Amino acid sequence: MTEQATVLVTGAGGFIGHHLTSYLAGLGRRVRGVDLKLPEHEPSRAADFRLLDLRRREACLEATEGMDQIYHLAANMGGIGFIESNKAAIVHDNLLIDTHMLDAARVNGASRFLYTSSACVYPGYLQRRPEVVPLREEDAYPADAEDGYGWEKLMAERLCRHYREDHGLDTRVVRFHNIFGPLGAWDGGREKSPAAICRKVAVAAEHDEIEVWGDGLQTRSYCYVSDCVEGIQRLMQSDHHDPVNLGQDRMVTINELVDIVSRIAGKRIAKRHDTSKPQGVRGRNADIGRMREVLGWEPAVSLEDGLAQTYSWIREQLGERAGAGSAAAVGGPR
Ligand code: NAD
Repeated sequence: MTEQATVLVTGAGGFIGHHLTSYLAGLGRRVRGVDLKLPEHEPSRAADFRLLDLRRREACLEATEGMDQIYHLAANMGGIGFIESNKAAIVHDNLLIDTHMLDAARVNGASRFLYTSSACVYPGYLQRRPEVVPLREEDAYPADAEDGYGWEKLMAERLCRHYREDHGLDTRVVRFHNIFGPLGAWDGGREKSPAAICRKVAVAAEHDEIEVWGDGLQTRSYCYVSDCVEGIQRLMQSDHHDPVNLGQDRMVTINELVDIVSRIAGKRIAKRHDTSKPQGVRGRNADIGRMREVLGWEPAVSLEDGLAQTYSWIREQLGERAGAGSAAAVGGPR
């Protein structure tokens, strides 16, 4: 591939796709970005940004035309509350998007296709206790993926393998484990736990109580978005076809996550646990041995540093919204 060849990023209006577009543009790559929407918080650095609905085959053909390397991130998704209550729409949309994108890549003769899968492919039966064994890639089978979103991701991983074996499309599959950072969804229902907790702590006063979903003892590991996009780019350049975890292996409880954000905010915050709210699996951690081995690299940003960046960005967003609200109230410019 020549240096000037354009690479395609789908989902370029979304959280990770936007960061990836900026990262690739920073490396001097010419990027074609595709999404249903433009990035919400800052302009895209894509040289060519197309608003397309990738559930449609013709849109996927247009998006992939002339593209040699494809980073496929577009998906209908959100945090646990969203994916547990929108299963039909999520599976319907993502099956169409993934099927048409893979076939359009084949038709247009792309050489590499990177698919973004999820830790949600791992079986429920391995994640029933908070103190879990870190999940290795081969643990995905025998399958018992997250109902809906997770099963679709697992099926699409397999479809990537079929396209590689039957059609010679050189595929890569990455399984993200809770990616977080600035410029992501932070309210409205699609936000995930780090952003939701940062928002709740940011609006709380000293000694206030915030609502925490579940008993707070459920465990997760988190990875900062700048590490995530570097890992994606490294995997694309590697020659590894099988799925690889991309994340960190420091496991924390949701209660600990709240405490870290409270310390960053300099506030003493109490927790009110709501066990009627969706919590996802009880415990999850990533085994990142294969990522280290295949990429010779691992994420470097600590949870504290990543959350400090995220918290400060969400606080700014709240400030801007409040400013816009008071300007509107006095008839000021919108
Ligand atoms: P996101 O929701 O911010 O971005 C996804 C983008 O896809 C959105 O901008 C959305 O508009 C776009 N999209 C949805 N339907 C589309 C359509 N029909 N046509 C065109 N574009 C469409 O999510 P994200 O966090 O940036 O996730 C990117 C990818 O990584 C997704 O495939 C997601 O499933 C996967 N993933 C993310 C995480 C995470 O922690 N953020 C974890 C596991 C997997």
